[in-house]
Amino acid sequence: MARLVMKFGGTSVADLERIYNVARHVKREHEAGHEVAVVVSAMAGKTNELVNWVNQMPQVTGTNAPIFDAREYDSIVASGEQVTSGLLAIALQSMGVDARSWLGWQIPVKTDNAHGAARIEDIDGSDLIKRMSGGQVAVVAGFQGVAPDNRIATLGRGGSDTSAVALAAGVKADRCDIYTDVDGVYTTDPRMTPSARRLERITFEEMLEMASLGAKVLQVRSVELAMVHGVRTFVRSSFDDPDSIDSSNGANPPGTLICNEDEILEQQTVTGIAYAKDEAQISLRRVSDKPGIAAAVFGPLATAHVNVDMIVQNVSEDGSVTDMTFTVPAGDLDRALKTLESSKESIGYEVVQSDPEMVKVSVIGIGMRSHAGVASSAFQALADKGINIRAITTSEIKISILIDQDYTELAVRTLHSVYGLDKD
Ligand code: ADP
Ligand code: ASP
Ligand code: MG
Repeated sequence: MARLVMKFGGTSVADLERIYNVARHVKREHEAGHEVAVVVSAMAGKTNELVNWVNQMPQVTGTNAPIFDAREYDSIVASGEQVTSGLLAIALQSMGVDARSWLGWQIPVKTDNAHGAARIEDIDGSDLIKRMSGGQVAVVAGFQGVAPDNRIATLGRGGSDTSAVALAAGVKADRCDIYTDVDGVYTTDPRMTPSARRLERITFEEMLEMASLGAKVLQVRSVELAMVHGVRTFVRSSFDDPDSIDSSNGANPPGTLICNEDEILEQQTVTGIAYAKDEAQISLRRVSDKPGIAAAVFGPLATAHVNVDMIVQNVSEDGSVTDMTFTVPAGDLDRALKTLESSKESIGYEVVQSDPEMVKVSVIGIGMRSHAGVASSAFQALADKGINIRAITTSEIKISILIDQDYTELAVRTLHSVYGLDKD
């Protein structure tokens, strides 16, 4: 018998009927003799609604304080998970399953002090283990923990995945099952590219790149934790009929196992395509080409908490001036432009140009380490479709290409076909 953590996302607990369906999945595993802890998200759309309410509150005036107090933000936006964890515990009890709900602070899930985007530092699973081995199902509110200031902290959007993987590590679970609205990790977002294929297995490294580069099926931090703690993580659908699944065999339902490289027999060169919209491009024209210039540009941006991503700098022809292009999240564009404007003298550039509607499309695959020519086929395929490339970055296992947002679908589908990822 195994110890399992089962996580259900927002669409899986979107209404009472779906919560009952989730309870049937949990009951199935429990009846098969497994020890079970469950992590739930808020009902679909609930967290967005809570965040919007916070954003509509009046600002603190006359200070440089953030628009709202992050500790109060956390207290509000964490409430959606409190509701679903309680409802699921009641649904389970009504089916004769011994169940109890838990909020982050009650376990406790200890985080750092970064309210709004906190990192889990420690989970003491001993009490939960005792209860689980006594047959009780623990239903844990995802997305939340308690910070050193003893207040609720949330883990960043999509953070229930991270709660689940961290809990799986904390209770030494045999597997962490992430139940969602698709039946696994696909070669690209199946909602945009219907020819996407489900992957039977994907390495931790590739999944980390896919998530970091825009595939929101798992929160980035959850994959990092799974990799560090070796948590076997299985992404699967909550919409399968609970009665049609054989719980004695974890590999029986369709899904995607995230695992080590040596567990994958046939490694493809390219595993998947991801995309991240909401990228903005900034170009500084006629920047003086001298030592210290990158520090003069990116130092003030870092101080202003602007996250710079892709950077392209030309070597100047005569050693005097050059152009520098880089990307920032579209939401940070205004702040970045203001920062650059106020540092204009110390940097020494002629004009700054920007484009707020860019997308970063990425090709990911561990096989790239040992195959040449992967990048050039991407460039040729995009050129054949008349798509202009604005910037490129590469690492050992990925190529990222910046293009105009209007071409997102075309670029993703084109690259998906070029690397032979379309389903038969
Ligand atoms: P949950 O509410 O269960 O956490 P999310 O909406 O956060 O679910 O994540 C699931 C969604 O991720 C899917 O509906 C799908 O559109 C999207 N997605 C993006 N890229 C991929 C991919 N490569 N494979 C599977 N799903 C993906
Ligand atoms: N409810 C939170 C969100 O929408 C956490 C999650 O769903 O994982 O971001
Ligand atoms: Mg999610």
